[in-house]
Amino acid sequence: MYHRVLEHPDPLQGEIHLARVMDTQFRTLRQFFKVLPLDEAAEMLMAGRLPPRAVCITFDDGYRDNHDLALPLLQRHGLSATFYVASAYLNGGLIFHDVLVETIRHASTGTFDLGIEGIQPLHISDVASRIAAAEHLMGAMKYLPPVQRQQLSERLIGTLGAKAPRSLMMGDEEVRAMSRHGMSIGGHTAHHVILSKLSPEAAREEIVSNQQTLSSLIDKPLVSFAYPNGKPGLDYDAKHVELVRELGYRNAVSTHSAVGTRQASVHELPRFVLNETTPIGVILRMLRMTTYAV
Ligand SMILES: [Zn+2]
Repeated sequence: MYHRVLEHPDPLQGEIHLARVMDTQFRTLRQFFKVLPLDEAAEMLMAGRLPPRAVCITFDDGYRDNHDLALPLLQRHGLSATFYVASAYLNGGLIFHDVLVETIRHASTGTFDLGIEGIQPLHISDVASRIAAAEHLMGAMKYLPPVQRQQLSERLIGTLGAKAPRSLMMGDEEVRAMSRHGMSIGGHTAHHVILSKLSPEAAREEIVSNQQTLSSLIDKPLVSFAYPNGKPGLDYDAKHVELVRELGYRNAVSTHSAVGTRQASVHELPRFVLNETTPIGVILRMLRMTTYAV
């Protein structure tokens, strides 16, 4: 499971992969494992004929760097991946996480107060204090009610003004290009909402509008869905799994950190993040993960 890929480290972004590390990981996976398109692997899993050492590659959220940096790497290694896109942020939008990171990056030295009840003002000065502030605020605000989170997000984007990055996410053309190059585009809700925080009607609307936007963009039905944030029982539950199945998705992925076996539910396939930077590290990690199976 990947999110962003960057050419150079960014101290404020903990969960990114560097392009050169991704290159090593892809090379190692191709050499020692069997990298399959997820949609194909999920069908094989259900039919009981998934080959040994099968691996699938996924990217979440729809970042432009997935198109600019990950796509050429995948092509160089002859690999295919699935990209889960939160469609409301295509063409210049920003996911809440990035609004926070950019706000902290550009905040001037001193006391920083978001003006939200229960969230203490933070002291901002050097890079270390900004890293700590970004982590603290992300943790404190991940589970804000979606409407409140959206309002806060808009207010912060307003404060950022011209400093708000406008090309962090893909545009329609990048999504189409990914699909044309044989990559799979998957559903991830319109606004990257935590489904368990929504009414059943609102959850359905988020999933359906995302599905319609993306499938008309690439002119193909979507096959795979990723639950935003993805922790089973916390971020989504059985009724969302049922809904995703009912809406025609053939498979879905969570962020439960494990490997999927024949017993796994094809609408709740687990994933994990590979952070190892050397071939031997990648291989050992993959072996170790087999002790975490569902
Ligand atoms: Zn996501």
